Amino acid sequence: MPYTRLMASKQLVADLHLHSRYALATSPRLNIETLAETAIVKGIDLLAAPDFTHPDWREEMRSDLEPAGDGVFRRATRGETAGKDASEPLFVLVTEISCIWKQSGKSRRVHVLLMAPSFDVADRISEKLSNYQDLAADGRPMIGLSTHDLYSLALEVDARCVLFPAHAWTPWYGVYGSKSGFDSLEESFGDLAHLVPAIETGLSSTPEMNWTVPDIGDRALVSFSDAHSPATMGRELTVFEAEPKYESIASALFENRVVETIEFHPEHGKYHSNGHRNCDIRLSPEETPADGRCKACGRPLTLGVLQRVNELSNGSAIKTFLKDGLVHTERSVQGRRAPFRQLVPLRELISQAIGSGVNTKRVAAIYDGLTSGLGTELNVLIRASHDEMGGIADERVVSAIVAVRSGEVEVDPGFDGVYGTVKPRIQGSLV
Ligand SMILES: [Zn+2]
Ligand SMILES: [Zn+2]
Repeated sequence: MPYTRLMASKQLVADLHLHSRYALATSPRLNIETLAETAIVKGIDLLAAPDFTHPDWREEMRSDLEPAGDGVFRRATRGETAGKDASEPLFVLVTEISCIWKQSGKSRRVHVLLMAPSFDVADRISEKLSNYQDLAADGRPMIGLSTHDLYSLALEVDARCVLFPAHAWTPWYGVYGSKSGFDSLEESFGDLAHLVPAIETGLSSTPEMNWTVPDIGDRALVSFSDAHSPATMGRELTVFEAEPKYESIASALFENRVVETIEFHPEHGKYHSNGHRNCDIRLSPEETPADGRCKACGRPLTLGVLQRVNELSNGSAIKTFLKDGLVHTERSVQGRRAPFRQLVPLRELISQAIGSGVNTKRVAAIYDGLTSGLGTELNVLIRASHDEMGGIADERVVSAIVAVRSGEVEVDPGFDGVYGTVKPRIQGSLV
């Protein structure tokens, strides 16, 4: 079956939080070739050209990518004259930076995503940042600047740069995180807060949880994978209404032109609940003692995303309804709130359904059969019919995919760095 675009024209399925093999603890396979090939299998249209402050990697990207319009790139053709087919993904320069500074007597660590309109701008930002850090040490550098001062530095280089918080709720590196974050964007970004167009909600929270947080205002809620390996690319995604041009993608963020987001179940993320990994203690916010300390070791618990969202929420109950696999809300919610769907990555679903490890050859064979037979992983997870899939994979796998679409899942929440689990429920029983 030929590649079929899943979304309407003028819609881009985007994964703008990625890493290269030059960031610490990432797969050595993460080069432009792998990023592009994996995006084609998964059905992603627009990718981050990540880690752009790293000098060697930036040079590699500059030679492996070619301009494909204003501020966007695609794989270089290396002299081949054949036109690129429609599934060839586009890239835009987006890098993650870890800001580390002291403010109000507390040390702060906040991760942000920074978009740049050209390699020339990426060069000039990197030149300035090299005064703070050896940028060759890590593709995701730690920079001794506040989020405000980093944004200000980028805007001085080029006013078209865009910056927003990454995985905003995680305890250690989120702008709203329990360990080193803030209660408001204004505390972190100061007079530049109004130029923060979006919040990356992260794996452990859904848009619905963020809808009740007044501080976010009308900002776009976006989701990306933060993948450190090809397999995890696209596990969360944002569908923008945008043209494949830098200005259009940037304005889609500022104007909140999010069509939908594709999400993990928040319990699947590794910081959803409170707890202590080493003490094997997991607690919901209600079960957590008022002093926030662990009963086993007496030290402060790692307070997770749900706890922090509750603390910053206005407590309003939001009515939602499920339609065509998308969770919608009624108009009562402040601002424009895009619907979202909650998926489980296809490899994990196959692994659970057939009882084989996620990295086994059996799982890979079924994954390859489904994605090559039905176009893309996203098409399999969202749209392919029972019959289409039944011709390729056995009934247990097909039932698991269909169960997730209708929200038939059982969850076991993650905490303190331990991933949670999400299992499809098939005719009342777990796979
Ligand atoms: Zn991060
Ligand atoms: Zn403990």
